[in-house]
Formats: sequence, structure tokens, C-alpha cells
Amino acid sequence: MAKIKKINHVAIVVKDIDEALKFWRDQLGLELDHVEDVPSQASKVAFLPVGEGEVELVQPTAADAGIAKYLETRGEGMHHLCIEVDDIAEHLIFLKEKQVRLINEEPLVLPGRKMAFIHPKATNGVLIELYEITDEPES
Ligand code: ZN
Repeated sequence: MAKIKKINHVAIVVKDIDEALKFWRDQLGLELDHVEDVPSQASKVAFLPVGEGEVELVQPTAADAGIAKYLETRGEGMHHLCIEVDDIAEHLIFLKEKQVRLINEEPLVLPGRKMAFIHPKATNGVLIELYEITDEPES
């Protein structure tokens, strides 16, 4: 069975990253690593490392995208929890065997990682993202 490694990140949907950083960076004291445009997710993301994991502040950049609709209907707040596994394909097979409802039946392949979402109806209301890191960023 695929091994669960750690919480990779917690994503929080915000209206405005600069506004949100007034709390997360300036008041709470997290360090801002960088802000990145993620066109495939129709969003801009601020990465704030916390130990081995990260907090991600996600600001929608396109009004018609899923994440923007989520913000509109539910307001700012926690969007998803990301759990890193060592073999996402194997883990998805394992979940399907257990009849867990998935949003992505197959992993999406992105630069440096593979990912898939588990449906919140299966997880007590929390959208869960699975990650497999395929390429360690150079540091
Ligand atoms: Zn995420």
C-alpha cells in the first residue's frame, strides 16, 4: 500500500493575497516564500512554509473558475487539505477499492507533482488533495 508521508499544505481561499498577508505574515509571523501564478487552477498562490508543510493562500484570478465560485458562495476560509503520498496511482486504486468518491479518478500530472482530489462528500466535508512529488525543486 502506498505510504502517507505528511501534510504537504493547507490551502486557504482569500479575496486578496496582499490583504491576507497582513495577518498570515505580518501578525501571525509566517515567512512568505513566494507568490506564484497558477493558470491551471485559475489562481494566484502565496506559499508560506510551516515546518515540513505549508500554508497556501489562494486568490482566484478568473471569475468563472471553480475556486472563484467557491469564494463567492462560501466566503474566505479553508479550501483543502493536501496529503502527500509516495505513490498516488496506487493510493487511488486503494481508495477506489474502498468505494471512496473521487473527483479525479486518475492523477493529474503537473510539473514536479501528480495530484488528485477526493470528493468532500466522502471526507466529512473537507476537500482533500493528494500529492505525489515527482521532482524535488532545486534549492
Ligand atoms: Zn493544494
